[in-house]
Amino acid sequence: MKVPLLDLRAQYAVIKQEVKQAVEEVLEEQQFILGERVAEFEGRMAEYVGISRAVGVASCTDGLLLSLMALGISPDNEIITTPFTFFSTAGIIARLNAKPVFMDIDPGSFNIDPDLVERKITPRTRAIIPVHLFGQCAPMDEITQIAEKHNLQVVEDAAQAIGASYKGRKAGSMGMVGCFSFYPSKNLGAMGDGGVVVTSKPELAERIRLLRNHGAESKYRYSTVGINSRLDALQAAILTVKLKYIDQWNRARRQNAENYTRLFRQANLAADEQGKMDDDPSNHIPVIIPAVLPECHHVFHQYAIRVRDRDRLKDYLAREGIGTAIYYPIPLHLQKCFSYLGYKQGELKNAERCAAECLSLPIYPELTPTQQEYVVEKIAAFFRKR
Ligand SMILES: *Cc1c(COP(=O)(O)O)cnc(C)c1O
Repeated sequence: MKVPLLDLRAQYAVIKQEVKQAVEEVLEEQQFILGERVAEFEGRMAEYVGISRAVGVASCTDGLLLSLMALGISPDNEIITTPFTFFSTAGIIARLNAKPVFMDIDPGSFNIDPDLVERKITPRTRAIIPVHLFGQCAPMDEITQIAEKHNLQVVEDAAQAIGASYKGRKAGSMGMVGCFSFYPSKNLGAMGDGGVVVTSKPELAERIRLLRNHGAESKYRYSTVGINSRLDALQAAILTVKLKYIDQWNRARRQNAENYTRLFRQANLAADEQGKMDDDPSNHIPVIIPAVLPECHHVFHQYAIRVRDRDRLKDYLAREGIGTAIYYPIPLHLQKCFSYLGYKQGELKNAERCAAECLSLPIYPELTPTQQEYVVEKIAAFFRKR
């Protein structure tokens, strides 16, 4: 049996006619940059997140960059974030010559551990970028409380978390700004690159709108220096079609996650000690299943298990036709490009441990129960053989 990590063709088969029609309309209109289609999608997106403003941009990476530019982040500023995330969360900080400050994570949720944030704050700290990793929100109450106390901006990296919520509040709506990615493999994927920035602050939205288009106030009049980072009309039209399905797709992902967890428990592969970091190898739980926090509505961009013999398991599953992925094999504080920051191996232990143990299993909405049973069966077979 073949179980790919992701099967975008299965999704496309369902929405093909609608997408083709939307694309056809844009082709007839021949209006490709910004315009009505982008404005319409921005409106729908704002409504979906439950926030007043949305600005379409070329990618989430650019969205994060534009957010920091709009907030006036300057070279001597420090920004606190997680090392266990996709590169761009920190890359954009360094791009502005500001300093990324990495802190350790909670190994259960994979998100920043709020108890550690305050230790990282210095007089130069200007912002915190929490990442809602794998589709589950970071502890936003604690983060916003600390941010208010120290007068810091909160920029949510919600790239993986469209539709997720925290105590009833949608991802992206809790910080000063929130950024989403429409990279094709994300829960809401474009057919190319795309992103959006959401905020409830009209002046900030206007500033980002200006900055995404070179800083042009009107044609050929520049009040500030921006970049070229616009969402295009084709992507906006496709995303407008796909946004209608996002809750349905997220429901299917959640259902698949529940199903995995049930199957792992039935196979006696997972204990209830969800997310614990136990250094005692005799206490042998082969599979640590992802923790779902009660205050979070998890949308399972990834279903990441933790296992000890991760790389061998990954190879074994590949031979059995099962696609898996490692998010993320090297935490950002240990990346070569950030060596100038001076972090050492062992400094952010939980992030390093998760980088060594995490394995993402197929979780896409169209995955079938039979495929899931096969995945768990093969994982069980691997641990029996050892
Ligand atoms: C995908 C992703 C990004 C970058 O999104 P792009 O749209 O590809 O630029 C940023 N942060 C996280 C956590 C991501 O998963």
